[in-house]
Amino acid sequence: MSEDDPLRPPGSIAWKLRRPCAACGGAEGWIRRRSGQDTVYCGSCGRHAYNAPRIETLGVRIPAAPTEERPGIAETAGLFDE
Ligand SMILES: [Zn+2]
Repeated sequence: MSEDDPLRPPGSIAWKLRRPCAACGGAEGWIRRRSGQDTVYCGSCGRHAYNAPRIETLGVRIPAAPTEERPGIAETAGLFDE
């Protein structure tokens, strides 16, 4: 998967799916943090795959999604706790 995949939204990083996409079987995609959750998307069809557990993203700096949706104060604080 190339770094300039047109399907991958800005602010996300390339990610290897823990399990294949339920829709198309794709194995790679991207991840981004949204409302405090690390959400993983399929890179082939763009479908939301799953929310990554903390253990899967341990040691990885997940970029937060652009502020199209404004997180609350408490959630904002949680984004920078690592
Ligand atoms: Zn897919």
